[in-house]
Amino acid sequence: CGIVGYVGAQDGARALEVVMEGLARLEYRGYDSAGVALVADGEVDVRKRAGKLVNLVAEIEQHPLPPSRTGIGHTRWATHGGPTDENAHPHRGGADGKLALIHNGIIENFHPLKNELLDAGVQFESETDTEVVAQLLAKAYDGDLTEAMRTVVARLEGAFTLLAVHADRPGVVVGARRNSPLVVGLGEGENFLGSDVAAFIGYTREAMELEQDQIVTITPDAVEVIGFDGEPAQGKTFHVDWDAAA
Ligand code: GLU
Repeated sequence: CGIVGYVGAQDGARALEVVMEGLARLEYRGYDSAGVALVADGEVDVRKRAGKLVNLVAEIEQHPLPPSRTGIGHTRWATHGGPTDENAHPHRGGADGKLALIHNGIIENFHPLKNELLDAGVQFESETDTEVVAQLLAKAYDGDLTEAMRTVVARLEGAFTLLAVHADRPGVVVGARRNSPLVVGLGEGENFLGSDVAAFIGYTREAMELEQDQIVTITPDAVEVIGFDGEPAQGKTFHVDWDAAA
């Protein structure tokens, strides 16, 4: 339902702050669960809870997150699997759990994909269509998260916005979209992703549009866009001039 991504230049509290503030600004869309993933110290830490954002805040107070410069956050509106802690996003991928993924939309062909993964011995922790993508992405990952995303989106049917982070890739968030919105927020030494500009309006008003069937890779200093076909693309930048609601 709501999606936020952030990369900054230095480990600190800002990644979590930006992601939580973005999720709060996206609350107006409605949701039943919320979660975040941060990359730190060669690991990806996930905190997620069914219910309102206050539940997630309480969970993070009980189990604090380390300083980080790379984060993603999600508010879920359940379509596949009830609104439980386990079904909340982010979902981990890989036996080592080093990858985390958030998703808006529906993966129409998740049944055959899930059966294929089950046959290969993959174990699932949720009932969501999303976790299938997390596991596929972990399998496809060979050091290049963007390339893995390109391999995986080619197999997906349906509507989706996806954001992924990997424990071995601090300072990188990769996003993809098909028939579902994703916008880039352009900062100084930091960059943002959001399902709409509200996700990052508290931090920057410089933004970049993505087209359908595109993959974006953000680092603190760069935003790179390619098509699902792998061809480099140029995003159109714009200034957000509407008055942000508090
Ligand atoms: N289909 C996914 C799920 O049920 C994502 C739903 C959403 O857009 O929040 O978990």
